[in-house]
Amino acid sequence: MTTDNRQMWGDLGIDLERHDALLNALLPIYKEFYLSQRNRPKGMEFFDFVVGDIHGIRVQELRQHAMNGGKVVATYCVFVPEEIVLAADAIPVGLCAGTQFSVPIAEEVLPRNTCALIKSSFGFKLGRICPYVQTSHLVVGETTCDGKKKMFEILGEYQPVYIMEVPNKKTQASHDLWRGEVMAFKEVIERLTGNEVVADKLAQATKLVNDRRRALQRLYNTRKARPVPISGKDAMLVTQVSFYDDVARCVQQVNGLCDEVEGRIAAGEGVFPPDTPRILISGSPMAIPNWKLHHILETAGAAVVCEESCTGTRYFSDLVPEDGGTVERQLGNIADRYMQIHCACFTPNDERLDDIVRLTREYQVDGVVHYNLQFCHTYANEAVKVARVLAKEGIPLLRIETDYSDEDAGQLRTRVDAFLEMIRKCSVLD
Ligand code: SF4
Ligand code: SF4
Repeated sequence: MTTDNRQMWGDLGIDLERHDALLNALLPIYKEFYLSQRNRPKGMEFFDFVVGDIHGIRVQELRQHAMNGGKVVATYCVFVPEEIVLAADAIPVGLCAGTQFSVPIAEEVLPRNTCALIKSSFGFKLGRICPYVQTSHLVVGETTCDGKKKMFEILGEYQPVYIMEVPNKKTQASHDLWRGEVMAFKEVIERLTGNEVVADKLAQATKLVNDRRRALQRLYNTRKARPVPISGKDAMLVTQVSFYDDVARCVQQVNGLCDEVEGRIAAGEGVFPPDTPRILISGSPMAIPNWKLHHILETAGAAVVCEESCTGTRYFSDLVPEDGGTVERQLGNIADRYMQIHCACFTPNDERLDDIVRLTREYQVDGVVHYNLQFCHTYANEAVKVARVLAKEGIPLLRIETDYSDEDAGQLRTRVDAFLEMIRKCSVLD
């Protein structure tokens, strides 16, 4: 931790005492969860560095950009089109928070029975402990779920907030509404930055964001191998970091990691034995540093091989066409791509069920863990249908409802152990 960083955090209005406590809590957990893993790819060293310096160099870059007259746009959901932000020479940064540390701070204002992701994110602003939110000029919220929607109203008392209306259905009228929202967002970003979004810049930004999607798709494809060449914890960390790292640098680092991991596959090397039970996690997003469930699963003898979530496949699954054209045409393509994100905020949302079944086959999954943040009603209710469809497919399912605290870690471990035991027995009988 350098004096320069402390000076910067102080200048950003960070509560230094709380911030020290956060970093002092985070880094030992990282060491225990991550650095203790055996046979990690060398390419993870970059991501270790990023976490070790989580509020350092990247914040300095954003601050430098702001001092040069640029804008930083903070987002909380994968529905916000980063292409538009980048095309206006602004920098998008994902703000969702995954730590219990900021939850009690948020509970001074928000109701306790709100999902941990919402409370953690809001607590970061209220407690002045996140330099990313402090650096940002605009927070872009959305109407995906009621808790977030109402939290954004309160957040607006502390920071400029703009809300995009995400429809709840997938009808033509909903598509039209969303296209209108994407067009309006372009104008908001143009006003914020003073830069017009022109066709060439939008095409370049689209290619760049697609490059990151392609790199993450490539990484996830390596996880289809048996034995799996990278742990679930490491793969998820790569996705989490990609929400706030520089996009071009992230593409380069992820592709470098993929070169190495693909080499492992060619050599038949893995991080776990070939007969390790393979798990798909499906459900609510896991924002950094929410590594609890992955850690429990992988230290109990499972391999997490895929995440059907917004910190997983929903983040990068579909590309925006790169055939250019007018700004309007490109914005239409962008809007259509984002409407393919099968968030539980939609009704009906059968495409997500199809995705889960397809992913269980592609990743040769032995069981699914449905992960639900407590008080997240959309995913909790959709889990009923997920359970039905998996029962029909004969795929074992464990439904977990939890928060960011460690209080239930022992109980979760017991349930995970029993689930893995059941999977192992089934595979013997097969
Ligand atoms: S789960 Fe829904 S609301 Fe949450 S980040 Fe994903 S798309 Fe957005
Ligand atoms: S996890 Fe659920 S309740 Fe929490 S922000 Fe996402 S959709 Fe809303």
